[in-house]
Amino acid sequence: MSTQGLLIVLSGPSGAGKGTVCKALLKECPQIQYSISATTREPRTGEKEGKSYFFTEKKQFESKIESNQFLEWAKVYDNYYGTPKDFVIKNLKKGKDVILEIDVNGAKQVLKNFPDGTFIFLLPPSLEELSNRINKRGTDSQEVIKKRLASAEGEISEMKNYNYAVLNDQVENAVEKIKAIIIAEKCKIDKIDVIKEDFKNDLPID
Ligand code: 5GP
Repeated sequence: MSTQGLLIVLSGPSGAGKGTVCKALLKECPQIQYSISATTREPRTGEKEGKSYFFTEKKQFESKIESNQFLEWAKVYDNYYGTPKDFVIKNLKKGKDVILEIDVNGAKQVLKNFPDGTFIFLLPPSLEELSNRINKRGTDSQEVIKKRLASAEGEISEMKNYNYAVLNDQVENAVEKIKAIIIAEKCKIDKIDVIKEDFKNDLPID
């Protein structure tokens, strides 16, 4: 019923399972548009250009920062990551819901520029579990793993700035909760412009 799509930001510490939860959510809700990020990190096995990420040279990334082409960008463990702005704006205007799966620093920038977005913080069940997950992934060096764990505690303290917190104990549970959040957001009075328009002569609403 709302005219503009929802900007959904799924964030949280690395290892919380953002990628897995986001993938499972999109499988159930293919109408949600996933925002494909640009990154300067090397592709991991199985990752595809233009699907997982736009793998970008550092110089090219920096020139895109200069020309203000990112909605947000952040340096995460020595690599740049950023959300291409045009794609997100275009889809929101078309009325599509767009989901950003980004780190906590990037989410902070989006919060500043798009406070009307829906900010969801994904929590790992415990720091111990977080450590297990990062280690199990087996794709990162020991040094990177250490850095990721060290920053996780600080990142969790950012949770207070979000609209929702979802515990990722089981992927299916987290997905159900996010689906419920999206439904609730769409029913918010201030998001229902069409209803306001249709009933403006009958109801005492501004
Ligand atoms: P990975 O290298 O494991 O794919 O991602 C590392 C971290 O970067 C994850 O926390 C992921 O959510 C975050 N990330 C991915 N894309 C973006 C982006 O466009 N912007 C920001 N700020 N973080 C991102």
